[in-house]
Amino acid sequence: MYDLIVIGSGPAGEKGAAQAAYFGKRVALIEREAVLGGACVNTGTIPSKTLRESALHLSGFRQRGFTEAIDLTMKSVTIDDFMYRKQHVVEKEWTRIDENLRRHNVDRLQGSARFDSPTRVVVTNSLGQQTLEGQIVLIATGSSPYRPSTVPFDDECVCDSDTILTIGKIPASLAVVGAGVIGCEYASIFAALGVEVHLVDARSTLLPHMDREIVRVLLGELQNRLDVTLHLACEVQTIEKVDGKVSLTLRNGTCIMVDNVLYAAGRNSNAQSRRHWRQDRQPRRGGRERELSNQRAKHLCGR
Ligand SMILES: Cc1cc2nc3c(=O)[nH]c(=O)nc-3n(C[C@H](O)[C@H](O)[C@H](O)COP(=O)(O)OP(=O)(O)OC[C@H]3O[C@@H](n4cnc5c(N)ncnc54)[C@H](O)[C@@H]3O)c2cc1C
Repeated sequence: MYDLIVIGSGPAGEKGAAQAAYFGKRVALIEREAVLGGACVNTGTIPSKTLRESALHLSGFRQRGFTEAIDLTMKSVTIDDFMYRKQHVVEKEWTRIDENLRRHNVDRLQGSARFDSPTRVVVTNSLGQQTLEGQIVLIATGSSPYRPSTVPFDDECVCDSDTILTIGKIPASLAVVGAGVIGCEYASIFAALGVEVHLVDARSTLLPHMDREIVRVLLGELQNRLDVTLHLACEVQTIEKVDGKVSLTLRNGTCIMVDNVLYAAGRNSNAQSRRHWRQDRQPRRGGRERELSNQRAKHLCGR
């Protein structure tokens, strides 16, 4: 019997597990992926921030007036060169998390977790199943990119924010759908590399949750310094693959032809599947929130 079972090894799971173990609790951590670190280390914060740094270094030549150097650099940069530093940083993070969990004597299990009862968690992997019993279970399962069925994802020409990290080459042109933090970040990274970038969003402004003054500066930099073409208040009607290119039709009639599309218009919670989010395992919430949560649980359980 564990004091705490943690599902997920992203920043929330790792820190929760280590902190409980630090205070003498017996802790198990379950991760379904072969690697630790969750979206933060493998597909989100760390990779995108490292790529941003690499793009900044390369585009720094242009900003300092070495235009010939930047052309030379860009022509000779391959996707492997561009991803090299990112992979190095990610691997260092795997080692750091591994050492942190080891130092705190956290038991680790690789596999997909689901609830059998409020205190029993079943872990399934290629070798079979194992059941753990814990007094408390911390669900730290994070989120995944939203992939609507109308978008023809092939994870090479049409990608989400996970699979953009595995494309085979730097495209000549890219359309980013979704001008949230992830969309703006990748739009500026690729534009800094000299890629022709279109940023599309149905909303009339970027990052509505942010300070307007900052957004104004960002808008100016994206358009004037990075040459990003903005299509705001433009809903995407269709995305189609045509002869090795991708065609986007916007509701206002505009048609954009590009090499690649990054679809970054939202994320889904990983805890919304009925497999591990059961009605008998609701978080404690008050009033309206609890009612909504119960309704969702009933829906997920098909009742
Ligand atoms: C492109 C991008 C850029 C970002 N940039 C920033 C940034 O600059 N700053 C910032 O603060 N945040 C940023 N974020 C957000 C940040 O990555 C997340 O907020 C953070 O990773 C959430 O941590 P978490 O531990 O809750 O979940 P995650 O990191 O998503 O980890 C959840 C883990 O749970 C595992 N899991 C899920 N279901 C199960 C199951 N049933 N059984 C076992 N394991 C399971 C998953 O495999 C995963 O490893 C960015 C995200 C993206 C996608």
